[in-house]
Amino acid sequence: MKLTVLGYLGGFPDHGDGTSSYLIESAGFKLLVDCGSGALLSLEQVVDPLSLDAVLLTHYHNDHIADVGVLQYYWQLHPERPNKDVLPIYGHTLDQEHFNSLDWPNSTQKVAYDPSGVLDLGPFSITFSKTEHPVPAFATRIVEKATGKVLVFTADTRYFEDITGFCQDADLLMTDTNFFADKQGQKWHMTSAESGKLARDAKVKSLLMTHLPAKGDMNQLIYEAQRELPENVPVEVASTHLEIEI
Ligand SMILES: [Zn+2]
Ligand SMILES: [Zn+2]
Repeated sequence: MKLTVLGYLGGFPDHGDGTSSYLIESAGFKLLVDCGSGALLSLEQVVDPLSLDAVLLTHYHNDHIADVGVLQYYWQLHPERPNKDVLPIYGHTLDQEHFNSLDWPNSTQKVAYDPSGVLDLGPFSITFSKTEHPVPAFATRIVEKATGKVLVFTADTRYFEDITGFCQDADLLMTDTNFFADKQGQKWHMTSAESGKLARDAKVKSLLMTHLPAKGDMNQLIYEAQRELPENVPVEVASTHLEIEI
């Protein structure tokens, strides 16, 4: 499967770069995971937005859903649909108001995922794990059925030990790394060092830090995560239109 980062910042867009949104492709199937600020503009530069097969939302914070509304208008105002008549948007139902807003006439259809079950979606088999965040949010483990390759996305979460098992042996672990290692006080996201520790304990094959701070030295962020890890585990930071073959 192929991952293309569409937006990677936490909280707000900055100088042309958007917030959380990722395109995951396999066998022609196009899954959009989260749809933050700037996602539609970024997506348009990579694929036809009408060629999407599904959208999956980890939670309903604005930096993950800001562009859902304009994506709905985009589909509504383009009657030609190469793939399907209506775009399904998968979300959790622990916030009914946001979940219901995923329906839009002649455009998108809300679909509930069961966080305790397995979501069979095209070439992917997807499971979920609740994170520790101010609103209900779900980490996603995306398995490419044909190859068994695994992408785990922590969604938004503070570090907690119990998430380790869910990330176990992933080919690529994508972590919410909004803070440098020296961040003190209340945290609802992980630091670089916590991302590195999680990757080490879960024995993943590679780490991609995302949901990044808009300011600071990204080499420092990589250094802080890498020093927690064996040297043969590669660490990267996300950037707009970064592509990774998993
Ligand atoms: Zn966020
Ligand atoms: Zn959040």
